[in-house]
Formats: sequence, C-alpha cells, structure tokens
Amino acid sequence: MNAGVEAAMHALSQADGVGEDIRQTVNVDIACVGFGPAMGGFLTTLVNAWNENPADPAFESSVAPGLPLQVLCYERADDLAAAVSGVVTRARGIRASFPDLKPEDIPMSAPVRQERIFYLLDPIGASRRTFGLRAADAALRSFGRIAGVKDHAFELPWTPGFLHKSGGLLLSLGQFNQWVASQIMASGLVQIWPGTPVSDPLIADCAVTGIRLADQGVDKRGTPSENYMPGMDVQARLTVVGDGPVGAIGQRIDSALGMPKGHAHREWALGMKFVIELPESAEHPLEPGTVWHTLGFPEPEIFGFLYAHPDRLVSVGIFVPSWMHDPARTSYRYLQHFIQHPLVWRHIKEGTLRSWGAKSLEESGRQGEPWICGNGFARIGEGSGSTNVLTNSGVDEAWTTGVQLGESVIEILRSGKPFTEGNLAETYGARRRASWVERGAQEAEHARGGFQHGFTRGMIGMALAGLSRGRIALHGELPAPWMQLRGTPGKKEILTRRMAAQVAMEDGRPIHDALLTARGWPEIPFDGRLLVTHQDALLMGGKVQATPGFADHVLFRDPRLCAACEDKTCVAMCSGQAITLGADGLPVFEREKCIHCGACLWNCSQPVDGEHTNIEFRAGSGGLHSAEN
Ligand SMILES: Cc1cc2nc3c(=O)[nH]c(=O)nc-3n(C[C@H](O)[C@H](O)[C@H](O)COP(=O)(O)OP(=O)(O)OC[C@H]3O[C@@H](n4cnc5c(N)ncnc54)[C@H](O)[C@@H]3O)c2cc1C
Ligand code: SF4
Ligand code: SF4
Repeated sequence: MNAGVEAAMHALSQADGVGEDIRQTVNVDIACVGFGPAMGGFLTTLVNAWNENPADPAFESSVAPGLPLQVLCYERADDLAAAVSGVVTRARGIRASFPDLKPEDIPMSAPVRQERIFYLLDPIGASRRTFGLRAADAALRSFGRIAGVKDHAFELPWTPGFLHKSGGLLLSLGQFNQWVASQIMASGLVQIWPGTPVSDPLIADCAVTGIRLADQGVDKRGTPSENYMPGMDVQARLTVVGDGPVGAIGQRIDSALGMPKGHAHREWALGMKFVIELPESAEHPLEPGTVWHTLGFPEPEIFGFLYAHPDRLVSVGIFVPSWMHDPARTSYRYLQHFIQHPLVWRHIKEGTLRSWGAKSLEESGRQGEPWICGNGFARIGEGSGSTNVLTNSGVDEAWTTGVQLGESVIEILRSGKPFTEGNLAETYGARRRASWVERGAQEAEHARGGFQHGFTRGMIGMALAGLSRGRIALHGELPAPWMQLRGTPGKKEILTRRMAAQVAMEDGRPIHDALLTARGWPEIPFDGRLLVTHQDALLMGGKVQATPGFADHVLFRDPRLCAACEDKTCVAMCSGQAITLGADGLPVFEREKCIHCGACLWNCSQPVDGEHTNIEFRAGSGGLHSAEN
C-alpha cells in the first residue's frame, strides 16, 4: 500500500467516535472512479509505460517525492468481476494494448466465428406490432419457404459492414475485467479498491481537486450512527472519472459545470441477460464464437443477442430502450419470452440458468457527451459518451478512450505541465477527436432519428446512417424517456390495464407483469431450472448483497410527486424488485435487493425539471456478484 494512504487508513481505523471534523484527507497524484473497461484501458496504458521504464522521472510522485506515482482507483462493486455484459467486440483497442492476447487466457472468451442477424416474427401474437408491421410479417410468413423463414425467424442475407465484428472477440465482461485488474495490480504501481463507492467529486473554482469516499456507519438517510466513519477525501492532481452509464460522480460534475451546448443525456437502454449452461448432450450445440443479433421480438423495439462461449456456456439477453413508447418495462418477463422464441429455445431448452444480471447503457452517444476534460479531471468510457449505438458496441470504445487518456497523461507528466483543461484538451481531447472512436460517434450521432415516428422508420433511419456512414440520416429528437412512459391510452388499453390491476391485486404480482398477461402474453411455464421466477433468479447463489452501514443510493426527490403519480413505473420496472409499494402508497427502496442497474434513474415517469426525474441515483455499495456476467 502507498505510504500516504496507509497512514491515512490507519488513522481512520484508530479513530474512536469520529465526526465530520476529523474527516481524513490523503493526497495522491491520480484518483480514479470506477473500474470498467475504460479504466482498464487507462490503467493498463500507465502500467505498460511504467513497466517499460520504471526509472522514467515522469513516474515520480509529486505528492510523495522519491516514490512512484500514487495512483488509486475506487470501484463501487464488491468485487472487480461484478460487471454485466455479454460482449462481442472488434477489440481493436484491446488487442493494441495486448498484442500477444490469446482468447484462451481469459475465461469464457473466444474468437468470433459466426455472425448472423435475425428478424424474429411473433409466434404468440401478443407483441405491440403496428398494422404495417403485421402486414410485413404476414407477407414473410406467406413467402416463408422462398424467403427462408425458419423457426419463426427471417435471417438477413448479410451482416452490414458497420455491424461486423469479424476478427473480434467474444468475452464475459466480468471475467475480462478480472483478468485486466490482476495484471494491473501485479505491477505494484496502481491500487484498486473494490467495495468503495465514491460519493462526490471535490470541486473548487470550477476545478475538480479530488474525490470524497462514501461515509460508512450511517443509517439509510445518511445520518451518522455510533460506528460513523466519514469517507476519506482523496485530493488528487488529476481525477479520472470512468463511472459508466449512470455514474453519480459524472452526474455531479455535469450539474456543477453544465453540459456542452445542445448536449443532454437522453437515451438509455436496460440490458438484461442470462448465462446458461448447456448439457454435453445438447441436441443443437452452438459453436463457441457464435454471435446472433435479433430484432422484432418480444417487442419490435427490443433488440436481442445470443453469444456462445466455450465450455457450453451461452449468454442470451435483450435491450429495452428508453425510447420504447410504453410504460410496461418488465425486462425480466420479456427476457423469458425472448429465450422461449423457437429460434433461441431449440438451442438452449435443455440448459440450466447459471447467472443473471442487468445494467443500463447510456446510448445518447455524441449527443450526450459531457465536457470530457476540465481543470483537474478527465472523463472516459460510456459516461463520456463513447458508446456507439450504430455498431452496438461500447467496450472497445470505452477501453480506447482510457488508452487515449493514459497516453495523454504520460505526455503531460513528461512535459512537467499541470493537468489543466488546456493541457488535457491539447492531448486527450486531440487524440480522441482524431481517432476511430470519434469517427464512429459522428456516424452514429443521428442514427436513432426516426424512432420518434415508430419502429419501422427508426430502422430505416439506422440502416441509412449505417450504410452511408452517417452521411444520410433521419434527423429529429427522441422525446425524453419520461415522455415515452406516459401517453393517453385508448379504450381497449384502459380496460386491459384495469384487468391487469385486478390480476395484480389477486395474486400479488407486479402490475406490469400482470399487464403483459392481460395483453395476451402466455404465463411463463416455470421449470425451476431455466425458467425461474424473478425472485428465484435474485436469490440464486446469494448473488445480490449490500454491505451494511451505507446510506440508500436510490432516493425519491419529492414524495408529493410520488403520491400524485399514477404510473408508479419505478415499481414495475425495477430489475431487482428493490422498489415496492409501501402501505401509504408511496414507493419504498430496499438497498439489500438492489442490483445497481440504474434503470430507475430514467424509468421514473415524473420529471422534476427539464432534465431530471423524481429519482436520484447516487453512489452505493453492493449489488450483483457474478464473474460470469
Ligand atoms: C447486457 C449488456 C450487453 C452488452 N453487450 C455489449 C456487447 O456485446 N459489445 C459491447 O461492446 N458492449 C456491450 N455492452 C456495453 C458495455 O458493457 C459498456 O459500453 C461498457 O461496459 C462501458 O464501459 P465503462 O468502463 O465506460 O463503464 P462500466 O463498464 O459501466 O464501468 C463503470 C464502473 O464504475 C463503477 N462505478 C460507478 N459509479 C461509481 C462510484 N461512484 N464509485 C466507484 N465506482 C463506481 C461501476 O460499478 C462500474 O464497475 C453491453 C452492456 C450490457 C448491459
Ligand atoms: S419515483 Fe417516479 S415513477 Fe415512482 S412513484 Fe415516484 S414519481 Fe412515480
Ligand atoms: S432500485 Fe436498484 S435494481 Fe431497481 S431499478 Fe434501481 S438500480 Fe435497478
């Protein structure tokens, strides 16, 4: 452990009856928030350069002269493999960092061998399809043989170039993060602290001067109890923020400094997935490296994926987007319908559920790009707008922005200059703007224009943007997520919702689950092996945990808005069933069940201003534990 940090941690642990007045401070050179692929790219770049020449004077600490650079990274989750994402990636940036990388070195990884895209017809007749889409489906079914429709699925004759991941890798993000972290920590230059949420950026005169760790020994409201331990202040020359799609530190910096003109975080999706183990005797085995992308089912707007890993493990998942014009967002139930689609089911039906997870994706891309650097700080990864919705990729983009910052930091250190906005913009900003990440972001910038007019026009817009490399697109702004949750239901829908409310009252199930049943979706034939209840999935292997002594990280800003809110979408869409309805009719949050997917942040139907909903999502500890996700 670095000397300065050790001293501070020791003092902290010795303190008895500590109070605000003895909040400890430690000085480091670089403080990092979050450990995902973006931070992996940043720290790997620093470590590789240091390993090449540990005597390089650029790597001498300014805060602890004579010692190497003091670099600390704090991760909220209880272990470094808690990520959620089945990943197919071109891995351009990742391979450049590890030229000798062999897929077999990373558990669950494989080279991409087969890529296919399917349009899924609705075999049940329950999805919300427009008249036009139903007509197109009918035509496909009529010309089924000629069109090549099989298992209620139409395979696109080719994978458009912009979606191709040939030469790429299939990964489990949890396993990949763990593999990367072990190499970084082996160097001795960097410490990574899991289970340590960062609660705030320290901001003075529009500069970020470090971070504050979350207080411990507090009640759910944050009020100190007898074991109170105020979170340490980590003063840093540079703060690197890689806190992902719904990160609290990024949000706080956005609030303090504002967003660049015309930019806003508007688009998200909830990615939910199962990891399934197939038996050796599987009737229809899948070759490791198989990559399928789907659209059309369970709802037209819900995209799906199937990735086959080695050792008969398969990741299957869906993305429920914030632009879906419907309040029913029961991703878990939708995922169960997705895996039962005949195309998917015939391959996985004999399998056993090994793991499960959900996480938000920030899909605003360039339109949601915040200030990527400023005095004393830089933003990398998905929270900095790097995810590309056109190519369906975020991992390699996040990694590469981290690498770009790493190279820039080394350049600044070697020049002996400070980490000012100007110096970071000249190095990191310039590298990012000149790179393939930026070109991709420009091509994808208007790719979603069209979805505000429905699925078909949205798909046309995406295809145009992809095939013309962003030169042609259907422009237009997607409504804010909370607008998509509302709407004036027709007579039939009002009756259906009443029926659903009745069913929910009778058997106590969540209202949107009942709504799907009332809309004609068949009940799930639970088998206790692959099709298990949401509650069972949450309990599987005790994978959802929360360390005691931290404050709640999901807060309802204005209870009066909740009292007046008819939708209560926060309850129905919660991935962990951590938000329930209290006896007083107000939503109640249970930290112990929260999987930190972040979807409540953008699934509340009531805005408090033009930008934020009635839910505040802060930094918290705990969540899912699964290295396979
Ligand atoms: C189901 C699913 C499937 C996906 N499939 C693909 C795919 O096939 N290909 C692809 O390229 N991308 C895919 N993605 C997207 C990809 O996972 C993300 O783009 C990528 O993980 C972004 O990396 P990041 O490092 O920016 O953020 P993250 O991976 O989100 O990492 C950020 C880290 O910061 C931590 N953190 C947040 N706040 C704090 C705090 N206050 N204090 C401390 N730590 C904090 C978080 O716990 C997290 O570990 C998928 C995503 C999902 C959910
Ligand atoms: S948090 Fe939002 S969606 Fe939930 S009850 Fe309150 S206002 Fe309604
Ligand atoms: S309360 Fe937790 S599990 Fe539920 S939606 Fe919010 S972050 Fe996800």
